[in-house]
Amino acid sequence: MSTPEGAASAAAMPTAVSAWLVRFETALKAPAQADWSQLFGEECYWRDFVAFTWNIITLEGRDAIAAMIKEQGASIGASAFVPDDPSLPMTDESQGWFTFKTATARCRGHVQLREGRAYVLITTMLELIGHEEIGGSSRPRPDGIEHRAEKGRRTWLHGRNETARTLGHSVQPYCLIVGGGHNGLMLAARLKRLGVPALVIDALEKPGDGWRARYDSLYLHDPVFLDHFPYLPFPDHWPLYTSKDKIADWLEFYARVMEIDFWGSTLCTAARYDEQAGEWTVAVTRGNETLTLRPKQLVLATGLSGAKHIPAIPGAERFRGRQYHAADHRSGAGFAGKRCLVVGSNNSAHDICVDLWEHDAQVTMIQRSPTCVVRADTMRELSKNLYYAQAGADIDFADLMFSANPFRPRTTFEKGFTDYLRNIDAEFYGRLEKSGFHLWHGEDETGFFMAYYRRAAGYYIDVGGSELIASGQVKVNRGEIAGIAEDGLRMADGSFLPADVIVYATGYRPMHEWVGQLISPEVERKVGRCWGLGSGTEGDPGPWEGELRNMWKPTAQEGLWFQGGNIMQARFHSLHLALQLKARMEGLPTPVYRRPPS
Ligand SMILES: Cc1cc2nc3c(=O)[nH]c(=O)nc-3n(C[C@H](O)[C@H](O)[C@H](O)COP(=O)(O)OP(=O)(O)OC[C@H]3O[C@@H](n4cnc5c(N)ncnc54)[C@H](O)[C@@H]3O)c2cc1C
Repeated sequence: MSTPEGAASAAAMPTAVSAWLVRFETALKAPAQADWSQLFGEECYWRDFVAFTWNIITLEGRDAIAAMIKEQGASIGASAFVPDDPSLPMTDESQGWFTFKTATARCRGHVQLREGRAYVLITTMLELIGHEEIGGSSRPRPDGIEHRAEKGRRTWLHGRNETARTLGHSVQPYCLIVGGGHNGLMLAARLKRLGVPALVIDALEKPGDGWRARYDSLYLHDPVFLDHFPYLPFPDHWPLYTSKDKIADWLEFYARVMEIDFWGSTLCTAARYDEQAGEWTVAVTRGNETLTLRPKQLVLATGLSGAKHIPAIPGAERFRGRQYHAADHRSGAGFAGKRCLVVGSNNSAHDICVDLWEHDAQVTMIQRSPTCVVRADTMRELSKNLYYAQAGADIDFADLMFSANPFRPRTTFEKGFTDYLRNIDAEFYGRLEKSGFHLWHGEDETGFFMAYYRRAAGYYIDVGGSELIASGQVKVNRGEIAGIAEDGLRMADGSFLPADVIVYATGYRPMHEWVGQLISPEVERKVGRCWGLGSGTEGDPGPWEGELRNMWKPTAQEGLWFQGGNIMQARFHSLHLALQLKARMEGLPTPVYRRPPS
């Protein structure tokens, strides 16, 4: 991604954008004299990723924008706004990319104009000035060159072994990352390049074991061009959809190649923050050893979901067959002829129904609430047009393009997109509904994407399950479960479903519960919910936040951070979190705007 030094000349950029940038920079220099109504339209949004706010927030409306600049403008010291390469996508008479600097960082932005005034502005930090990532011409020297004659010279392996011996013992990591899934590993890779000593710990033995433990038939739902890891894209013979064991191997390989300091079989049991010392005391068990780690920063990358959630159903203890949570489902092998009830109707429920059907079980899905379904085939066709899918796409730039739409206008966009999907897949949706499946498109018809951002649940990306349901090969029973008997389920409508196996695809406890479990209920209360936008829809109570709560940004607890989400989000936002951590380690000023009250 180009930085201010690499920016193109202003001459070729559409004049409206260039002119707006000049006016904007002038206003930033003298905000008290600025007329924001000339710069921003009646409806306007400014989405900032760390650059101006040391936070991830969307400001809605001119007053919010003026208030932020009043508070942050002087300390941020933004300047040198230069239009970016006019050949970039999303550049025309009414929009364009630009680069700029702050007192501490090189940054990039994009503005969409309506009648000469900004409708959407996005700004993002790219790198800290004087604290850039190592790489390219800044490859570490002289250690990068080992071709010399020197007695007692230490090799790369000596260095790695020395780090393994000391980190977490005589040398404390600046940052401790709990959780070594793709989120923990991507953040650690970025911190490594920034020279921030970080240690990743995971209860599982090896990176990737979380994926290995999932059911055999699982393939990623996103196509490969969305799934690249920072610094290390997949080779181009990679399959479009990656098997869970292949992605597991990739995680293990990534951790090794990126020289991530990783302790497997290490459980974090408790963490307490010492305000005076400004550091955490973290209790971990590593094998048979109990250790105390003292990082300055603690990142929970423990997964969006907490413990398995199994609803309390009267009589469950009496059931004579097998019953277990979806997380413990490995394969449908051995279930031939068995009457299997799968409780739940989202992604895992569907995948497990398919797996059981493939192994000749008699499968019924128990659906309590409606589910949003999108066809993977349709999504794949549409995603071919994305910049991400183009040959030679700059993945970091693609992430920024994808983020150029703040959540409030995106809600409107998603309504339209959902209508579009319903229209092109009308025949499919019709057949699915006819089978008795309770289909919906979200409380406010905003579909699958908003369901993901609001509560990371409530949807299925159809990779074959819907066809089995539509054709009646997997049955659906709608309604509430009243109780469990020795040999089946009693539904609230009085019907009885005989069963040999019950699988609970009923989800997980929310992420914030990790805080209560590992730190304290007080800190959990103080920090509040993670994820969700505050849309006021079911599972995502208000007030409106406009960005995902607590993710990748300062929380109400000093030194506590959350890194989570799918691979795309992990890749994009791990940069933002890494920069915030690096700035703190270097003692740079990091004035946080709208920090949650502690
Ligand atoms: C069917 C299905 C399809 C999916 N498809 C995609 C897809 O196509 N693209 C995509 O991006 N995502 C996909 N996902 C979703 C998602 O990205 C994954 O669930 C992913 O594993 C989340 O990564 P993570 O790093 O946040 O958490 P996890 O992979 O859950 O890792 C968290 C780690 O934290 C560890 N941990 C937790 N507590 C502690 C503790 N106290 N001490 C030590 N370690 C601890 C755990 O052992 C675990 O290894 C899919 C998920 C499913 C189920």
